[in-house]
Amino acid sequence: MKKPELLAPAGNMEKLRIAVHYGADAVYLGGKNYGLRNMADNFTPAEMAQGVAYAHARGVKVYLTINSYPDNSDIAPIYRYLEELAEIPFDAYIAADPGVIQMIGEVSPGRPIHLSTQANTTNWQSALFWQRQGIARINLAREMPLEGIREVKERVGVELEAFVHGAMCISYSGRCLLSSVMAGRGANRGECAHPCRWSYSLVEETRPGEYFPVIEDEGGTFIFNSKDLCLLPFIPELVGSGVDALKIEGRMKGINYVASVVRVYREALDRYCDDPAGYRCREEWLAELCKISHRGYTTGFLLGPPRDLDLELHSRYIRSHDFVGVVEATHPGGAAVVAVRNRIEAGDELEFIGRGMAVQRHLLERMTDEEGTPLRMAHPNSRIILTLPFPVERYDIIRREK
Ligand code: SF4
Repeated sequence: MKKPELLAPAGNMEKLRIAVHYGADAVYLGGKNYGLRNMADNFTPAEMAQGVAYAHARGVKVYLTINSYPDNSDIAPIYRYLEELAEIPFDAYIAADPGVIQMIGEVSPGRPIHLSTQANTTNWQSALFWQRQGIARINLAREMPLEGIREVKERVGVELEAFVHGAMCISYSGRCLLSSVMAGRGANRGECAHPCRWSYSLVEETRPGEYFPVIEDEGGTFIFNSKDLCLLPFIPELVGSGVDALKIEGRMKGINYVASVVRVYREALDRYCDDPAGYRCREEWLAELCKISHRGYTTGFLLGPPRDLDLELHSRYIRSHDFVGVVEATHPGGAAVVAVRNRIEAGDELEFIGRGMAVQRHLLERMTDEEGTPLRMAHPNSRIILTLPFPVERYDIIRREK
């Protein structure tokens, strides 16, 4: 049995380190332009070189996304961009547009190219076509069912990658004009404003300005809003399909999301591949995924078109836990330096999560600032010192139930 690669998002350097720490086999990142997540922090060329060196030193691959759909005016800047980055030893580029693919081949011949999900590969003939163009790996459209993935794998030799977790567009694998029309920000140029997730009201056409609330639940209404993909229960089927990589969506998401999702999929994948016969998908893994902010989970199209599409829409964020901090350093004797990301107060019941599936709980009675002054409350973007009764390590994530 071939263990698929676990591929995680790296929206900036901190998220890259977290993804590597929590067990990603590979990460994908973008520059400031042309990468479909232009609103994420992203990387400068110097940061990319640092990120690649950091990941390679730990045996982790790095892919660069250049998967927007450029227009004519972008061609010369893209050539310059590719030339500027050519010396950085990325393990592959991720692209969708045939013109970009051609330009990569001209500037960096021999560099493996992975086809982005934006290219909407949904059948084996398409996969064969792209293989003949020299594509090394195809990230299949999210609309592919398991049977379809299996058939492509049987018929075509190219590597395949499937999304297993993260946000989904309501349009076909992200090809969507909603954001261009409503916010003047093109989704296929990496600037989506996510209007599908906004809250909407109803206006009758002869009464402009009179807004009728459309109330789905106490949070409002979310008529275009898809649930998030979660294929954790289907790890055996996905591995059995022969897929070469399992990809987690989310370069815009925070380090809490990256840590929480990567560690759960790492655990499940390792457990299954170590002992397929004794494997079962554990409730506590799913519970962990439910502790991060999400919009309800769906299996998407894996088992065929969702029978009741309505069930896959109309969802708003579910947030059961707040991410409050991350361990930045540890000192002998159990003291931990914590970067505070959300207000922490004495009396809080904190949960520390780390590599593996470690979860440790701590009733916070005492904390100090870095000079040792006791604090009742710590504010975001400050640093505090905690003395803990259990060992923690750098990059442990701290959360608190709401
Ligand atoms: S508006 Fe929504 S559906 Fe459209 S590209 Fe953006 S996230 Fe996807």
